[in-house]
Amino acid sequence: MIIGLLGAMREEIEPLLEAVGSYQLIEYAGNKFYFAKRNVHDLVIAYSKIGKVNAALTATLLLEKFGAQLILFSGVAGGINPSLNIGDLVVATKLVQHDVDLTPFGHPWGFIPESGDFYETDVRLRDIADDAAKELGLTLLKGVIATGDQFVADEAKKRWIGATYGADALEMEGASVAAVCTLMGRPCFVLRSISDKAGESAAIDFDAFLVDASKRSAALILAMVDRL
Ligand code: SAH
Repeated sequence: MIIGLLGAMREEIEPLLEAVGSYQLIEYAGNKFYFAKRNVHDLVIAYSKIGKVNAALTATLLLEKFGAQLILFSGVAGGINPSLNIGDLVVATKLVQHDVDLTPFGHPWGFIPESGDFYETDVRLRDIADDAAKELGLTLLKGVIATGDQFVADEAKKRWIGATYGADALEMEGASVAAVCTLMGRPCFVLRSISDKAGESAAIDFDAFLVDASKRSAALILAMVDRL
């Protein structure tokens, strides 16, 4: 199977590249795609750069140009759910774009006509994540992830996103990847490790914990690949 492994930042895919050891690089449309083998699978590993537009392009290329049959997203996020601490893992059950605002037309926040609001991830991949987490002795929170083109470092904004969407964590790419996969009919899985709590100290925490949180997320993704 051809598996797409996607992150947003170089730091998020670095542990994946280290684990596969050798790879071939193809540059296309401002993106770097790393081709590698793991067990029986072909992996295409990429980082999209930050934000929904970048992530949608890279996800589309993974599926359409490079033939990925599914996408596993690995990265970091700001925690909303108070039970989440830095380093904890969140598996998205569904994702929404928290910055979509057509409310003047009477639509709810996040809703786009003929498109919708929440995108669900693949149940089978979530089950595989559970099995892999058990094996590694990791705890997973299954929850809603809210995506927007903003780094949230504001308690009030974070609480609003939590209350409006029932969101447990927030980040800047997941919903766009889930949207692309859904529209292309391909399974999608989004995993995030908490790098910060999206409050006023978020930027400082993010810089301090990005590398470690990225490693935690990548470790589970690799354990999932080994079970596919
Ligand atoms: N350090 C970068 C910017 C990082 S943006 C720079 O200086 O250019 C934050 C990235 O991590 C995004 O890819 C997003 O998906 C995720 N993320 C982690 N915490 C976040 C938060 N509090 N708000 C929004 N995105 C967050």
